[in-house]
Amino acid sequence: MIGFLSLGSNLGDRKGNLERALNLLEDSPTLHPSLKIIKVSGFYETEPWGGVEQEPFYNLAVKIESTLEPLSLLRYCQRIEHLLGRERKLHWGPRVIDIDILTYHNYRINSQELTLPHPYMERREFVLAPLREIEPELVLPSGRPIQEVKGEGKVKKISFA
Ligand code: ADP
Ligand code: MG
Repeated sequence: MIGFLSLGSNLGDRKGNLERALNLLEDSPTLHPSLKIIKVSGFYETEPWGGVEQEPFYNLAVKIESTLEPLSLLRYCQRIEHLLGRERKLHWGPRVIDIDILTYHNYRINSQELTLPHPYMERREFVLAPLREIEPELVLPSGRPIQEVKGEGKVKKISFA
């Protein structure tokens, strides 16, 4: 099954945190093996969301293929957040790593633990910009082509020269 994840970090070594998360997602033998990364976007520096005063984020998007059930995929992502030292303190506050599932196959889920598709994905440019880069032909859950949807918030693609 195909899915799209959104990763973000705004504490410590933001680029390193994202790279460590990608490595863990793909190939930690102690974690779940049934997940493959198909595409990774570049890094984007983005404005924090949600009204908490904090440093800018680095965000990226990932296309995955996996056989995990949705809740197992969520737990897998949470385990990686935990391994990288994520502490849950302030909602929408600073974090070492945040891994959100945007869409997964054609699942539509509305439970306390997991909402799919991610409810804010079409409103946030920090989600849409990297997603547009890796999947320019994507039709969003609302039915609109991603090329025609612009989200809120400032986003700047980073070049590491
Ligand atoms: P946020 O990502 O909204 O800033 P958190 O990362 O702290 O906040 O996540 C809060 C909760 O959101 C998680 O405990 C998780 O159970 C839930 N959640 C619901 N839907 C999703 C999703 N699609 N992807 C990731 N987490 C989700
Ligand atoms: Mg999250």
